[in-house]
Amino acid sequence: MREIAPDGTPFWKEGMANGDTFKIDISEHAVGDKECSGCWGEYPKPCSCGGLIHAEFGDENADGDYWLMYTCDKCGDTSQPEDA
Ligand SMILES: [Zn+2]
Ligand SMILES: [Zn+2]
Repeated sequence: MREIAPDGTPFWKEGMANGDTFKIDISEHAVGDKECSGCWGEYPKPCSCGGLIHAEFGDENADGDYWLMYTCDKCGDTSQPEDA
């Protein structure tokens, strides 16, 4: 399990507070920031826990289908939101 990115930004861990930044993979995300500049597209989206689900581009295959990586900034859930 990775904890710190090469540039020193931590990956998500429990207990992060508003204003903290974390990485899902490459982009930096701000906890509690509805306008998070590191997020893909319409993200972040609200999580059922009251936190925000941040999303980042994952990868794409030869057909051009792509997927995203998700992390809630409060509960740490990495599953795809139901309304996505
Ligand atoms: Zn974000
Ligand atoms: Zn959550």
